[in-house]
Amino acid sequence: MSPEVAKLAYRAIIDYLGGDIERYNKLINEAMRISNIITCPCCNNAMVEGKKGKTKEKIMLCTKCGNIKREGEQVC
Ligand SMILES: [Zn+2]
Repeated sequence: MSPEVAKLAYRAIIDYLGGDIERYNKLINEAMRISNIITCPCCNNAMVEGKKGKTKEKIMLCTKCGNIKREGEQVC
């Protein structure tokens, strides 16, 4: 995590604790954009990396809507 991203994330958490969810989401999105975290094409939530089944196929999973994205594939 770069210092710039850490700063945004820190500010986002402060806003979250202060009850400003809208601003929190905005800052988190900005932080993710900078750090090149892969976001869900459906809901823009950050996706986590995972492995699927016996083949251990590398996938990205959205923790918000459950969307699964395979390498180089758009699902939605
Ligand atoms: Zn999603």
